[in-house]
Amino acid sequence: MAGGPPAGARRVNLGEGGELRVEVGPDQEGVGVRLLSGAAEAFGAELAEGQRVALRPGQQAAFFTFFGAQLEVEGAPEVAYEADETPMVSYANAHAVLEARRREAKARGRPGPRAMAVGPTDVGKSTLLRILTNYAVRRGWAPLSVDLDVGQGSLTAPGCVAAAPAERVNAPWVPPAEAGGEAGEASSAPLAFWYGHTSLGENPELFRRLVSRLGAVLGPGPRGAAGDGAGAGAGGAGGRGGDPSGVFINTGGWTEGQGYGLLKDVVEALGVDVLLVVGQERLFSRLSAELSGAHVEVVKLAKSGGVTERDPARRKADRERRVHEYFSGAGDELSPVAQSVPIDDVQVFRVGGGPKAPASALPIGATSVSDPLRVARVAPSRDLTHSLLAVSCAEGPEDVLSSNVAGFIHVNEVDLAKKVIRYTAPCPGPLPGKILLAGSIKSMAT
Ligand code: ATP
Ligand code: MN
Repeated sequence: MAGGPPAGARRVNLGEGGELRVEVGPDQEGVGVRLLSGAAEAFGAELAEGQRVALRPGQQAAFFTFFGAQLEVEGAPEVAYEADETPMVSYANAHAVLEARRREAKARGRPGPRAMAVGPTDVGKSTLLRILTNYAVRRGWAPLSVDLDVGQGSLTAPGCVAAAPAERVNAPWVPPAEAGGEAGEASSAPLAFWYGHTSLGENPELFRRLVSRLGAVLGPGPRGAAGDGAGAGAGGAGGRGGDPSGVFINTGGWTEGQGYGLLKDVVEALGVDVLLVVGQERLFSRLSAELSGAHVEVVKLAKSGGVTERDPARRKADRERRVHEYFSGAGDELSPVAQSVPIDDVQVFRVGGGPKAPASALPIGATSVSDPLRVARVAPSRDLTHSLLAVSCAEGPEDVLSSNVAGFIHVNEVDLAKKVIRYTAPCPGPLPGKILLAGSIKSMAT
């Protein structure tokens, strides 16, 4: 496929500010794009002149040019069209604001900007952050990416609150590594805290607790105070919150009711000082009325016409793909291994859960047995079959809420007769911890 003659290739001339949007069919191989002349980028990643970039089946990408470019499309993607209206100039302006703050932070030895993208579902929040992160990386910064979208899990498995430094440009095409180039880059393992569900409504109290834990790891932001002041913590992201490169925070699309309150809590807990509100005027005006001021800059950004909506089935499929990628790698380069562990060698816990009794139904002074932060021991049973479990770094149950996780396993079978749990892990070797955390995420994807 790669490098074949451009039979049937289509040339596209993009004018200033133009964009070529491509959607590859789910089973479509051999789609590629080549930059013939000019300058073009895809979600902030630059194309080299003459370079052919290969797109994966099911992939979407937009090739944008500030000043004009000639491209060649190989293969016949399901969708390919040119657009001359994009919000890219406003995204570039947002980048300029952040770039100025990073420079100032560097000059003063202060933490860089903490920018969070918020907005309803399907407005391009993740894409905006990808673009801004790539722009920052291209300028030599290594911003920290924080992912609070528990439904997808762009940094690690779904169901987590996670952070990892962005050290290289994240391009929407098949990395040269898979095309036989440099070996897969071992990027820093993300610092992840297990939430265990794909929806924030499931346990908002736990989400809040984990975000404040993350805030403590990041340390004070440019506003001077973040998190609960507990200082630098464990894991790969330790201390990185103080870097002038700053932090980019991705969120899910829950902006109404309790979701709105959670967004404001995150602003406080992580010391956010730049709020990028995408695609909803109402949310923008509400947030700027309540938060705009000396500490927080609220920026309004338009939704790109290229953003596509995902129905619940598509979201679930994307989540399954993320789980698959965790165990097998994006290009199936990992070899997930089926293993087993004696049930008595591990302890399984679950945070919160149980029927929710309203506070009014309890005797005065009593705490609910379904305390959302209660760490409860779970007896392994067949109910755990197909569950995604986190392997906690905690030493004991009392550390579960404050500990990050070392990785994840997928339960294939709980064999009560033989008293073993059979599971899939991304690599061979013993479990990195004895404490396993359950949630409500099941998968068929390993
Ligand atoms: P969610 O609420 O699910 O987190 P989101 O607001 O983060 O969604 P994105 O994931 O950024 O939205 O975008 C949705 C889809 O649209 C993605 O598949 C992305 O690749 C695609 N997309 C974004 N911008 C463009 C564009 N300019 N051209 C073509 N496709 C695009
Ligand atoms: Mn997103």
